[in-house]
Amino acid sequence: MVDIFLTNSLTRKKEKFEPINRQSVGMYTCGPTVYYYPHIGNWRTFFFEDILRRVLIYNGCQVVQVMNATDVGHLTGDNVGDADLGEDRMEAAAKREGKTAWDIANFYIKDFLESREKLNIQTPEHFVRATDHIEDQINLIKRLEEKELTYVTKMGVYFDVSKFPSYGKLGGQKMIDKRAATREELKEDSEKKNPFDFALWKFSYPGGRSFDSAQDDAASRRHMEWDSPWGKGFPGWHIECSAMSMKYLGETLDIHTGGVDHIAIHHTNEIAQSEGATGKPFTKYWLHGEFLKVDGGRMGKSLGNAYTLHDIENKGYEALALRYLYLTAHYRDSLNFTWDSLSSAQIALNKLREQVLAAKTQITRTLLSTEKRKKVDDYSIRFVNAVNDDLNTPQALAVLWEALKSNIPSEDKYDLALSFDEVLGLKLAEVQDIKVEIPEEIRKLLIDRDKLRLEGKFEESDKLRRSIEEKGFTLEDTQAGTVVRPLRGSK
Ligand code: AMP
Ligand code: ZN
Repeated sequence: MVDIFLTNSLTRKKEKFEPINRQSVGMYTCGPTVYYYPHIGNWRTFFFEDILRRVLIYNGCQVVQVMNATDVGHLTGDNVGDADLGEDRMEAAAKREGKTAWDIANFYIKDFLESREKLNIQTPEHFVRATDHIEDQINLIKRLEEKELTYVTKMGVYFDVSKFPSYGKLGGQKMIDKRAATREELKEDSEKKNPFDFALWKFSYPGGRSFDSAQDDAASRRHMEWDSPWGKGFPGWHIECSAMSMKYLGETLDIHTGGVDHIAIHHTNEIAQSEGATGKPFTKYWLHGEFLKVDGGRMGKSLGNAYTLHDIENKGYEALALRYLYLTAHYRDSLNFTWDSLSSAQIALNKLREQVLAAKTQITRTLLSTEKRKKVDDYSIRFVNAVNDDLNTPQALAVLWEALKSNIPSEDKYDLALSFDEVLGLKLAEVQDIKVEIPEEIRKLLIDRDKLRLEGKFEESDKLRRSIEEKGFTLEDTQAGTVVRPLRGSK
């Protein structure tokens, strides 16, 4: 195995990856909260985790990946820095859509799985739901209770961070200070001993009592609640990841991942719970993906720019064009999404397919000169070096383009492309020679545009270009003439 280097958030350094057990790598990836369609920021994180998985496999590792679906207990207060406040997103969605929280979970899990396939994100060995693991979570809370790391209030069972001295080591002191500063403005659960204490189990009603039709409004009744040794309620958001990772991967994981927003609270709390219970290190390598921005700023539902994969497809782009766009940025850099950048990614993907198709259909291999043999080997080595250097996908993509444009034989180009695609995941093996018919209407517009350009009427010709593009075609003016391609491209 060639060395793989990954940036570990725990040490804040790029480190050589050395799995705990050489036979297989245990990797836990925090999955979606299934109350709505994931936005393209969420997908960027799931994509980065897929690249990590593929790179490990490309290097010959056997990977056991667990991804969870959070289908209970992730509260809206998390947006303002307190995951213990606010409404359960699942129950809120149920009210919004006039369904039960169970229907909401089932619907958005199905959508998640279908979209994941479109983005060619590989299926983890275990895709697990929090609600299927309530007993495991209760047992873990009991373990923490035995170690006297918890206390009970009217609102639920809390983890007592004052009993866990290394609390906050993942984000470091700076992160703790930052959290402390923003917390002052937040409403606290008055019974919490320390503002950083967090819920392991939340009661449906104060004290853990059941719904009482005489005093409770029927609309406030939860769809998802369970009995527990402390009272009726539901698990806190963080405990599911500690319980399920332990169940499927053991007490110490090789790798744990998520978006950078998870460092301060969710992953910090997972460490406290897991290490508090086992006394062992929870995770050897923590990896975090940087955020996706939209038009240079934050994305948010209230801003109307939290685009979903469906929005992308409804505008005529392929899911794989979004994947291509993700590949163009390093996972530790933020990536700015604009519709123009997606359009460029779709065009680049279409061109890539043309190149791969050309390499597939042209048979040019003769006896390889030593010089060309060396070139082919160099491309392979440079590609592995790029992806093994902290998943440098932009560089890996550049190596692919360079190989395709080089003078090595077509068969070698094709073989390299297919091999590299095991990591890139652009489905290049499915590229087929589909003749694209350019409709008569578009041909006519093209001729009119050419005339206008010859006459120097560029404003008018630009108008025609835009109307051709609106009809789903892209134009590229080359020395040999105008090349027209359908925006969607041929697969
Ligand atoms: P959630 O469904 O909210 O639990 O989030 C799923 C994943 O998406 C988590 O790993 C988050 O850290 C990540 N995430 C949330 N917002 C963004 C964003 N704008 N860009 C990239 N990743 C994000
Ligand atoms: Zn998690």
